Amino acid sequence: MHIPFDNTYSRLPDRFYARLGPAAVAAPRLIRLNAALAGQLGIDPVELASPDGVAVLAGASVPAGADPMALAYAGHQFGNFVPRLGDGRAKLLGEVVGIDGMRRDIQLKGSGPTPFSRQGDGRAALGPVLREYLISEAMAALGVPSTRALAAVATGEPVWRETKLPGAILVRVAASHIRVGTFQYFAAREDTDGIRLLADYAIARHYPDAASAPNPYRAFLDAVIARQADLIAQWLLVGFVHGVMNTDNCSIAGETIDYGPCAFLDSYDPGAVFSSIDHQGRYAYANQPRAVLWNLARLAECLVPLLGEDDDSANAALGTFAPRFQTRYFGGLRQKIGLQTEREGDGSLTQDLLKLMATDNTDFTLTFRRLCDACDGRVGDAAVRVLFKDFAAYDAWASRWRERLAFEAEPAVAMRTVNPAVIPRNHLVEAAINAAVDRDDFQPFEDLLGAAGQPFRDDPATERYTLPPRDDQRVLQTFCGT
Ligand code: AMP
Ligand code: MG
Repeated sequence: MHIPFDNTYSRLPDRFYARLGPAAVAAPRLIRLNAALAGQLGIDPVELASPDGVAVLAGASVPAGADPMALAYAGHQFGNFVPRLGDGRAKLLGEVVGIDGMRRDIQLKGSGPTPFSRQGDGRAALGPVLREYLISEAMAALGVPSTRALAAVATGEPVWRETKLPGAILVRVAASHIRVGTFQYFAAREDTDGIRLLADYAIARHYPDAASAPNPYRAFLDAVIARQADLIAQWLLVGFVHGVMNTDNCSIAGETIDYGPCAFLDSYDPGAVFSSIDHQGRYAYANQPRAVLWNLARLAECLVPLLGEDDDSANAALGTFAPRFQTRYFGGLRQKIGLQTEREGDGSLTQDLLKLMATDNTDFTLTFRRLCDACDGRVGDAAVRVLFKDFAAYDAWASRWRERLAFEAEPAVAMRTVNPAVIPRNHLVEAAINAAVDRDDFQPFEDLLGAAGQPFRDDPATERYTLPPRDDQRVLQTFCGT
């Protein structure tokens, strides 16, 4: 089995991780291989799908060049600081430089206990593995920065949660697994050398331009803040609720990472919370910018010893978040209603639509997608109109919108590239997981994965994936399942 590993994190000092060996797996079986992603990584998908390849993906055999390890990190979980979290159920195999020149981590999630497992078993159940596979791949197809799924493997071993469940491993690919919590791990130990080594490493790997800035650490902080601002704007624009955006789930590279109790909005509700453990709504849909800014403030605190003389540098950096986020978010909203240019009144036009959507509980994804067909007012308008309860209010908004659209060329074409038809809707994800877990039937998973992989396409064959749940299908709560 040849994987072109080129590891760099393992050259950092021993206190950054714990080395791991292989772990026997009862009966590994490949559920899904992402052949296209394997190709991008320079790995032969046929070899990966062979028994030798599956043993590697299951963590039972260590291929040449791999250096398996569990990474150390800390984190604030729902505001409470835990100085030692770390990879309790994940194993970094190593890094590969893909055919695009990008360096990426290959990590096994659910591959057994590590020195960071605490009370946990180090395992993952099949349901959460399929959920992460589906939603991370859907996010990537939507153009949202995300970790990717290279493979899902059934272990043939049971895991015990509330009940006995089939075990599985997700093979995850990420720009890196450095988190805000990784910095916090060293800060909690007052290990300034560790913070500096990590910052230098992250700069070299993710933000090389910062190295030549007057203050590289300030430039690094600014760059992380900008990427997170952009990321959260994109989440809101596709209706994504992460659900557990703790500092340990906040990637320094700016990717969406750790798909636990995440969900997409069905009807538009700024206060939407799905996660069963988010009692206060800390990570509610519209709270996400605030939550991430809070995480970034924790990163800034860790970097204070590196920032030098200027006391206020960290605060100045944090002050760049709001304008950056607002530019991306409001710019994105304008594009969602077909406005490429910016004119006075655009802000209230987008906000008034969202207000109507919230009042009438219209489906977030479907409303914007159907608006693509309603630009000229003759075709498609009725299909949007029926989504609202107050027709007159929609008509009044739509006439203002069309007056404004007169200044735009071909708005519908551009709108169809930013307003997806297909998202992995919660009820469909749940149905796909249930079929796999209860009946060993992976067809619904495969079908949904296929549809969500082409989110901007109108395809009669996948039309049922575009429709909101009926009231009795609506998923109101999601679970971590760890
Ligand atoms: P998460 O909520 O998935 O972001 O995980 C938070 C922390 O709990 C991380 O340190 C994980 O490694 C750890 N963890 C989650 N599930 C398990 C498990 N089944 N066994 C060991 N550690 C776990
Ligand atoms: Mg996590």
